[in-house]
Amino acid sequence: MISFNIPPHVGGEEDFISDAIKSHKLSGDGKYTKLCNQWIEEYTGAKKALLTTSCTHALEMAALLLDINEGDEIIMPSFTFVSTADAFIMRGAKAVFVDIRPDTMNIDEKLIESAITERTKAIAPVHYAGVSCEMDTINEIAHRYGLKVVEDAAQGIMSTYKGRALGTIGDYGCFSFHETKNLSMGEGGALLLNNEHDIERAEIIREKGTNRSKFFRGEIDKYTWVSLGSSYLPSELNAAYLYAQLLKSQEVYNDRMNSWNLYYRMLEPLRDKGYIELPTIPADCVHNAHMFYIKTKDLTERTRLIQHLKANGIGAVFHYVPLHSAPAGIKYGRFVGEDRYTTKESERLVRLPMYYGLQNSQIAFICEEIRKFYK
Ligand SMILES: *Cc1c(COP(=O)(O)O)cnc(C)c1O
Repeated sequence: MISFNIPPHVGGEEDFISDAIKSHKLSGDGKYTKLCNQWIEEYTGAKKALLTTSCTHALEMAALLLDINEGDEIIMPSFTFVSTADAFIMRGAKAVFVDIRPDTMNIDEKLIESAITERTKAIAPVHYAGVSCEMDTINEIAHRYGLKVVEDAAQGIMSTYKGRALGTIGDYGCFSFHETKNLSMGEGGALLLNNEHDIERAEIIREKGTNRSKFFRGEIDKYTWVSLGSSYLPSELNAAYLYAQLLKSQEVYNDRMNSWNLYYRMLEPLRDKGYIELPTIPADCVHNAHMFYIKTKDLTERTRLIQHLKANGIGAVFHYVPLHSAPAGIKYGRFVGEDRYTTKESERLVRLPMYYGLQNSQIAFICEEIRKFYK
């Protein structure tokens, strides 16, 4: 059986976790959280990185920082994970969905402007498969209308757009370290702040609405409740696991990239014969091999292909059911313009097994089974 995903384990996690246990400091913002924050800041160039309990929570923090209120609107793709929408909807906002580009499955930047109203507060581009959205255009529109940009970079760690790290191009960037992502702490994430003036407020929101971070730095002599907040700090045990992965991130990246390139080469002949489509990486984007997907002719063919692979011990999956067609999406969102690609392209997409440690021989076997299917 070839699993669709195996959570990354690079070696060294146990030592750091054991060190955290011995330090008798297991709650948030200890040594390992600080090391992770620092690593992310140095690697990406973000003004500030704050480790969180998930990417969902990083998105919720962005919504709190933006002071989202009842009736505000956030523009986003419908082809995304629920959290992109939910984080804002929980604060009373409406999700305004626009269509995606069929080449990258990312929000179509050319459609954003027509979805802007008086109530629009922010744009939330999602970098699908770690391949960047067209950020120059998105930032230019946001600037012209006075909107904020929240990057859902859940899948985007170590990817770049015109040389800039994903998560550092908008006002806020949200990473995920869930076990299905390239680098993991089981459950976890990070909020990247790209404006100096957000740092203090973000620290307060993350510490239950208190100024405890300032207190720990010795800047004040007692801490108090100063605003709305929640508890978005992960335990040191999780941070210790992640830190081992950050130290070996290049190894993980190279391993995944090798797998991605091998899939691409082995499936090119089927693409050339017109049976399937392969992912597109625009010239300005360097991706992180988060995902390898192919596109079949239609939904029926996809269902049959997934069944064929499953029968041969291969775990291939699809996602997302477009949010605007889900019960909560109907209730809390609206789709602006025509759904030319969101539904159609999402029904054709199949994700193939991809994880750190996937063997070349396994990839060869998977590609051979796909070839057999089309024969
Ligand atoms: C994984 C993912 C999330 C959620 O991440 P969690 O860390 O599980 O909260 C959000 N958005 C996208 C696009 C994702 O892929």
